[in-house]
Amino acid sequence: EVRVRFAPSPTGPLHIGGVRTALYNYLLARKLGGKMLLRIEDTDQNRFVPGAEEYILEALAWCGIVIDEGQGVGGPHGPYKQSERKPMYKQYADQLIRDGHAYYAFDTAEELDAMRARLQAAKVPNPQYNSITRAQMRNSLTLPEDEVKALLDGGAQYVIRLKVPRKEEIRFQDLIRGWVVVHSSAVDDKVLMKSDGMPTYHLANIVDDHLMEISHVIRGEEWLPSAPLHVLLYRYLGWEKTMPQFAHLPLLLKPDGTGKLSKRDGDRLGFPVFPLEWHGTDAETGEATISRGYREDGYLPEALVNFLAFLGWNPGTQQEIFSMDELIAAFSIERVSKSPAKFDQNKVKWFNEHYLRAKPNAELAPYLLQALHEHAIVCSQEKAEQIVGVMKERVSFPNDFWQEAKYFFQAPTEYDEAVVSKKWNAPVAAALTAYAEALSGAPEVSAESLKTLFNDTMAAQGLKPGQVLQALRVAVTGAAAGPDLFETLVILGVPEVAERLRTAVA
Ligand code: GLU
Repeated sequence: EVRVRFAPSPTGPLHIGGVRTALYNYLLARKLGGKMLLRIEDTDQNRFVPGAEEYILEALAWCGIVIDEGQGVGGPHGPYKQSERKPMYKQYADQLIRDGHAYYAFDTAEELDAMRARLQAAKVPNPQYNSITRAQMRNSLTLPEDEVKALLDGGAQYVIRLKVPRKEEIRFQDLIRGWVVVHSSAVDDKVLMKSDGMPTYHLANIVDDHLMEISHVIRGEEWLPSAPLHVLLYRYLGWEKTMPQFAHLPLLLKPDGTGKLSKRDGDRLGFPVFPLEWHGTDAETGEATISRGYREDGYLPEALVNFLAFLGWNPGTQQEIFSMDELIAAFSIERVSKSPAKFDQNKVKWFNEHYLRAKPNAELAPYLLQALHEHAIVCSQEKAEQIVGVMKERVSFPNDFWQEAKYFFQAPTEYDEAVVSKKWNAPVAAALTAYAEALSGAPEVSAESLKTLFNDTMAAQGLKPGQVLQALRVAVTGAAAGPDLFETLVILGVPEVAERLRTAVA
């Protein structure tokens, strides 16, 4: 059975890369008829941020990523939060010690610092606690057995470390990268159990993936360096046969391709990386209250999902617009790229415009009505639908409706300078007055009839419609450009249009 998991740490708002990881897991689970799990990895209590877990659940739900089993949903392998699983991990650490694959280390923080300083002074490029350096440290491999026992019985502080072999090739097959081969000398003796009895990410992650019967581990490339360690753990725990398949997703680069996209880029690059509202302190950046996100900026979840799907994957065809169901049908790990994906701000906007325009007016009207409500302007649902209907081709975000459509509710107080200086003159003003008068007798009100009336009035004034059209728009809306002019007049209503024309010529 295919079982995948999204395993975020509740350390702050979900990074856009995290949302992509969740999405790819979800697509694969659905594609292969498997299950999507959500596990909260909160073993690092120092980095815990209150509210982050709720935020993660809300963010996933907003994106339309449905969790089948796990935190917030339940299931047969719970609890799904690592801090609540604390008692389950110790036995595996003990098993590793018994089998000679892990050991107790009693070194104090000062001793560890001193070791690092010694190695740095000797110009060792990457100071590590490993098969060479552990020989000089205070651990159950170097201390006599009775001393170890005395220390443990006496309640000495200790951690449990993995005993990584000195000379061994660790190899595994990554579904995206192919064979990965790492020499064990590049892997250090990672801490598996901390002195407070909490497992580290590495131990908890492997134990949980095993107990939760995870078949595929799909995660960001930043975890690739940890994978050899994880492979060793599966082997030493005797779980190699059921080890999940790994797929490490390509990095996300800044829009200009200069480096890794990080949480810090949210503000610096002028676009929010966080998809949802967030009130709290980001554990990574220490920044407080990041309150804007994709949702707040008016991105539609369909657009964000479609965009994220293409950050590292493509269907191998020209098609770019995919609903979630279409993504599920088209997705495959084989088509996920090894090379980093560039975050393209214009592209996500382009997707948003597409989905916005495809939405029925009835679904878009609430965005305008909300803004109108904030400005204490009353408007019917029907009129709001008409307005968003003519406006949706012209905006990128639903939040722009109010700004762009203000003139439907407020007569212009300023007129576009360029049009006034080029197109406004006495005959034009006279023609607009004539149109205002003709309007009062207008028999039926449709864009077509108002246009015919305009053309006829201009002919009677000895002018071509083209000589007056722009002046008409500016007189009525104040702006040089906008949606279909006669549609606009219909929505405004004949009395309002006549009134605005009289004000403009006065
Ligand atoms: N808790 C890790 C994270 O926050 C999960 C890594 C993994 O998927 O193994 O990214």
